[in-house]
Order: sequence, then structure tokens, then C-alpha cells
Amino acid sequence: MYSVIVIVELILLVIGALFLIRALTPISHLILELPEGSIKERWKVLSIFILFFIAGYFIFGYNLWLLGDEFNHLSIITSITMLFGGVFAYLVGQLALHTMNDVKNMAILQHESITDGLTNLHNRRYFDERITEEVALSKRYKLPLTFMLLDVDHFKKINDTYGHKVGDEVLRNLSKVVLEVVRDSDVVARYGGEEIAIITPSTNKQEAELLAERLRGIVEKTTVSTISTTQEVIQVTVSIGICSLSAVITDKDALIEETDQALYLAKKYGRNRVVVSNW
Ligand code: GH3
Ligand code: MG
Ligand code: MG
Repeated sequence: MYSVIVIVELILLVIGALFLIRALTPISHLILELPEGSIKERWKVLSIFILFFIAGYFIFGYNLWLLGDEFNHLSIITSITMLFGGVFAYLVGQLALHTMNDVKNMAILQHESITDGLTNLHNRRYFDERITEEVALSKRYKLPLTFMLLDVDHFKKINDTYGHKVGDEVLRNLSKVVLEVVRDSDVVARYGGEEIAIITPSTNKQEAELLAERLRGIVEKTTVSTISTTQEVIQVTVSIGICSLSAVITDKDALIEETDQALYLAKKYGRNRVVVSNW
């Protein structure tokens, strides 16, 4: 005849073991979603430990069963502790999975908050932060810093002739071209409607002018065959204004204003050209 206390102990152990088994579900999701690496490997090791624990629970339960109705303080304390152990492992698994999902969502939100939806370039907010940082770094380490503003020539005509959708496609294509031409360390952002800002750290005016000329030439030769205009091949040109930090241009506002002025001159002199500020 088994005493009620042994039955209760066995029930506690079974519940604890069920929680341990349940803990394997979130942990296996976690292992599947984690990228290859030491963290993933450690979670795999942890899940093997859980399997050993489950085996331990059943061995302990079997021994309790063999002991029959012998009352033992230690076994009741152990059974309760093992129940909490199972619940604890389950909660840790759940929490780890939720934490990973939260971190993932935060990373997505953070990426979206600094990315332009149409072009996938950085957005104006990111540009404002980076230009402030880059100006400060350039002054502190006495490194050159050049800024370029690129504006599509007669873009309104593209929209008017082919429609806004095609205009969007042209912008996306142009953004890809710009990203291919610049260095990884350069900051490229959508500055306005069809204006792209490029910050080139550690680059002087002459180097930036070469880069801008190369970019202008590549854009001029690039044709966009849009999906919407099956047979139509669209070509655009860009005007680029350039200015660097100097003894005269000492802060970000002056740098942007002077670059804008250079862009204005590029438009005035006939478009499809690069103008470097004299300052
Ligand atoms: P300019 O050579 O003087 O630059 O002539 P422009 O026609 O390009 O003149 P402007 O730069 O003033 O015009 C920009 C146009 O870009 C106006 C606007 O309709 C268009 N635009 C701005 N943002 C977008 C966009 O996200 N998608 C599309 N399709 N068009 C846009
Ligand atoms: Mg334009
Ligand atoms: Mg414009």
C-alpha cells in the first residue's frame, strides 16, 4: 500500500518532468533560429543537459516507487525542488526565445528608423546624425572631410513622361549605382526627393571630385529599362556639388550650404556636371 505522500511526490516529479520536456520546445526554436556559432552550440549542450535531467527525474521516481510507503523528509523536499527545477527550465527557455525575438524586432525597427523606404539608402535623420559626427571627428583628428550633393537633372520630366512609378524605379536604380561607386566608409543618404547626399570622410576635394566625375559618367551611361515601360529605355544625368571642410568652411551648416551652392552652380552651368566649391 503506497502512502498518499509517495503518490504526491510522484505526481510532483511527473509534473516537473513534463515542464522539462516542454522547455525543449522553445529551446529547439531558439537553436533553429540562432545563427551558427558558439551561442547556438551552447544551447545545444544545454538541451542535452535537460535530456539528462529528464532521465534523472524518472530514475528518482522509479526509486521512490520501489521504496513504497517509507516516509522520508528528504524525498518530499527533493520532489518539490525538482518540480521547481522543471518550471525554472521551462521559464528560462520561454524567456530566452522571447528575448531573442524582442532583440530581433528592435534591430528591425532600428534599421527602419534610419533607412529610406523607397531607395533603401540611409534617410535624412541618419544623415543629420552622421554629418555632425563626421565634422567633429574630422576636426578632432585633423582629417579632410568632403560632402557632395547629387540632384537628378530634369527629374520632373521623367515623372511627367513616364509616371511617378517609373520615376521611383529610376531613383532606386540610381541609388544602387551610387552605392556601387562609393567606398564602404562613405555615408550615402537620401537627402530630399531626388537628391542624394554623400559624406566622404578622410577624402579631400580633389579625390572627391574624381569620385564625383566617375559617378556622373557612370550614371550618364547607365540605362534603366523599367518593368513598367517594357520597350522604353530611360537615361538620366546628375549634377553634383562638392565642398570640403576648410579654414573658411568650419562647421556642418556652412558645409551643407556651400555644397548646395555648388550644386546650384552645376545646374546653372548646364547640368550633368560636377562643381567644386572654391572655399
Ligand atoms: P533640375 O534639373 O533643376 O533638378 O530639375 P528637376 O525637374 O529635377 O527639378 P527638381 O529637382 O526641383 O524636381 C524634383 C522632382 O522630383 C519633383 C518631384 O515630383 C520629384 N520627386 C521627388 N521625390 C520623388 C519620389 O520619391 N518619387 C518620384 N517619382 N518623384 C519624386
Ligand atoms: Mg532635380
Ligand atoms: Mg531636386
